[in-house]
Amino acid sequence: MDIYDIAVIGGGAAGTMAAIRAGQLNKNTILIERNASIGVKILMTGAGRCNITNIAPIDVFVEKFGRQGEFLRSAFYKFSNTALIDFFESNGLKLKSERQGRVFPSTDKASSVVETLKKCIKESGAGILYKMELAGVKKKDGLFEALLNGGGKISAKRIILATGGVSYPATGSKGEGLYIAKKLGHTVIPLKAALVPLRTKETWVKQLQGVSLDNIRITFLSEGKKIISGIGELMFTHFGVSGPLVLDLSGNIVALTSAHKEVKLFIDLKPGLDAAKLETRLLNDLSEKGSSQLSTIMEGLLPKKMVPVFIRVAGLNPVRKASQITQAERQLILKLLKALPLTIEGALSIEKGMVTNGGISTKEINPRTMGSKIISGLYFAGEIIDGAAPSGGYNLQQAFSTGFLAGEAAANA
Ligand SMILES: Cc1cc2nc3c(=O)[nH]c(=O)nc-3n(C[C@H](O)[C@H](O)[C@H](O)COP(=O)(O)OP(=O)(O)OC[C@H]3O[C@@H](n4cnc5c(N)ncnc54)[C@H](O)[C@@H]3O)c2cc1C
Repeated sequence: MDIYDIAVIGGGAAGTMAAIRAGQLNKNTILIERNASIGVKILMTGAGRCNITNIAPIDVFVEKFGRQGEFLRSAFYKFSNTALIDFFESNGLKLKSERQGRVFPSTDKASSVVETLKKCIKESGAGILYKMELAGVKKKDGLFEALLNGGGKISAKRIILATGGVSYPATGSKGEGLYIAKKLGHTVIPLKAALVPLRTKETWVKQLQGVSLDNIRITFLSEGKKIISGIGELMFTHFGVSGPLVLDLSGNIVALTSAHKEVKLFIDLKPGLDAAKLETRLLNDLSEKGSSQLSTIMEGLLPKKMVPVFIRVAGLNPVRKASQITQAERQLILKLLKALPLTIEGALSIEKGMVTNGGISTKEINPRTMGSKIISGLYFAGEIIDGAAPSGGYNLQQAFSTGFLAGEAAANA
């Protein structure tokens, strides 16, 4: 039976990069992937365009990962965003940066990222075993045995677990790696969804399904205390709210709703205007167009589809003439424009979150090698490791950086 130098489990961004690096360093490397292709999840990223990384400085990457940021600093330095950009461009994939520093392939196709990775893994000399699932890992006489479903096994001197989290399990990331690591003695920090849409008590959101509001401010409050606030894009869904801004802030809310705490969301639909300026604007609109209906006035302030819902939430009459709007009604409109309230009931399940927070405790991983502090020769890479960042390309960079570092460290060990 062949004994590989390195077996990498999981052909996502992290495992593929680990296998490429180990192969480049002339190690006899095998990548084991349950799907018939590598990078199934990559194809879904960035709405099919793959936001590979961000042009932000490394300190920003560290900050985005919050309490796990410092752990990742060495990996981000070892294989930085600029190194990742060079890697793709030198392998023929041109990249471009867009707003907020997000980097995408110029093709606007995530499939070109996967194609480039396939080309690189082939050139690195690493082999791939598709449609093989890891069921367990044993270590005997200094050698690892990767036990496969169906009874096969692979022997390797070192093993890199890059099986991802439990989000979007249909892509192959079902969490076995976490349980296998637990059996080997590792601590798994409880998993929770990050970047997940939120459910609201109010059902009027359903009538706005698909409506996006850009440049609005949202503020979450729990038990009267402000939790977090941000400006960006929100999208209504049939069950509640989603969109980049909601997803990014959701991590702060999931813990509260899971603990059955009451959470309120207030949408400031006009964050660029303070209350006084907005009142002047509304007063002008109402007096200049006195014979217009309220709904026509509101169409100058809100997306058309939102107007009937907004007026219903306010309990006003849409066909009322602007000149007949009372001061109390005007104050109500202003109040709702600055703080449209929603009650958050909870989040969608962890499987529907874009990233899994929690995972292998970073206290048990050497940040300079991604090697286990418990089992020598075992390494981790990617989303399987505890921690998650907001959207912007930071999570894929984490997968590529930790994959590169684990591949190199395992090769040089
Ligand atoms: C819809 C969506 C959009 C996203 N968009 C972005 C974005 O634009 N930018 C960004 O930075 N991040 C984005 N993310 C997050 C990003 O995709 C992940 O952080 C990243 O893919 C994690 O890579 P990974 O290699 O660690 O894990 P994964 O990509 O989950 O890969 C793990 C691999 O291991 C395989 N595997 C699992 N268990 C086994 C087993 N037992 N045996 C064999 N193989 C196994 C799986 O089949 C899978 O291929 C998005 C996520 C989702 C779901």
